Amino acid sequence: MDSVIYMDNNATTRVADEVVQEMLPYLTEKYGNPSSMHTFGGQVGKKIAEARQRVATLLGCHPEEILFTSCGTESDNTAIKGTLASYPNKRKVVTTRVEHPAVLTTCRDLERHGYSISEIGVDRAGRLDLDELGFRLDDNTAIASVMWANNETGTIFPIDQIAEIVKGRGIVFHTDAVQAVGKIPLNLRESHIDLLSLAGHKLHAPKGVGVLYVRKGTRLSTFMHGGHQEGGKRGGTENVPGIIALGKACELAQQHLEEENTRVRALRDRLQKKILAGCPDCMINGDTRDRLPNTLNVSFEYIEGEAILLMLNKFGICASSGSACTSGALEPSHVLRAMGVPFTAAHGSIRFSLSRYNTQEEVDFVADKLPGVVHRLRELSPFVAT
Ligand SMILES: *Cc1c(COP(=O)(O)O)cnc(C)c1O
Repeated sequence: MDSVIYMDNNATTRVADEVVQEMLPYLTEKYGNPSSMHTFGGQVGKKIAEARQRVATLLGCHPEEILFTSCGTESDNTAIKGTLASYPNKRKVVTTRVEHPAVLTTCRDLERHGYSISEIGVDRAGRLDLDELGFRLDDNTAIASVMWANNETGTIFPIDQIAEIVKGRGIVFHTDAVQAVGKIPLNLRESHIDLLSLAGHKLHAPKGVGVLYVRKGTRLSTFMHGGHQEGGKRGGTENVPGIIALGKACELAQQHLEEENTRVRALRDRLQKKILAGCPDCMINGDTRDRLPNTLNVSFEYIEGEAILLMLNKFGICASSGSACTSGALEPSHVLRAMGVPFTAAHGSIRFSLSRYNTQEEVDFVADKLPGVVHRLRELSPFVAT
């Protein structure tokens, strides 16, 4: 396959050329340890400080509030487990049924260790019930963790409003913003968010670097013990090239934020319109009013998402399906199940997630190929009366 049409950016993104250029010297000649006393290491430390400032600028916070981690998953784990450890008398976590596994699996593990987990449901469009959120918060709750934007459907939660509700009860608030950063504007200075997770590889930096934002004054027990790196809050020699790359990616994200919400959004809308017009019996999943500009989750009735993906793959088209083949049984996505998407539609769901590297030609190519693929699979489907 010599060329791919990549529409799986919520899974991971291409590293921007500018980002590669920025990090390259730190993989080659500038290999010093930022903790060293000598100038050779010290210059690396300065570059890390610059990266920290760049991330802080994008988020609208202070550089001292940025903690570099190894990935979004580590940031989520640190936020939740680190908060529980610093409030030993509180044994409850409030979260949602549609979180990424980095939060959901962490919570299920905590449940096995005696913590109480409260998962809030969503409606058919994937919107959160804020009244239910209010009911579930109590004196035993140490932390509430609610994602900013859903990775599968793109649905955006009203995070500032949620943070206000949670903080109003004196409870620590964490948001998994891995899918939101770089796609929608954020300003932590004006929010009540205490902890926020992001991952480099979802915004055109490499894999293996993430951030946990920790608002000044937030109690958080150390999760990774070791050296004095990251102000003693996370031991381990820094992923220097990754951190520098993430700093550059954040700077670029700021510059491209408008394009993301105009050109990329228009491409996504064009794809959506063409699919709805070209394929019978399909529907959009998620909140179409409050949705990430790059994400399109669509269900094709009576057929399997995996089969669609395999046929798209033959055309070099990369997308993703909500269901995962576990132990031989096809499990529809937990997000679509929480939304109450009917069985026959949940199984045939496909997520297209675009980026600034996509073109209109690519969108039109995908929209051209899809109706034929869907038609052929339906001819073979046992669920369709012919
Ligand atoms: C990708 C993703 C993560 C996990 O990030 P990693 O860097 O892959 O560990 C967490 N939350 C959401 C919403 C994601 O999309």
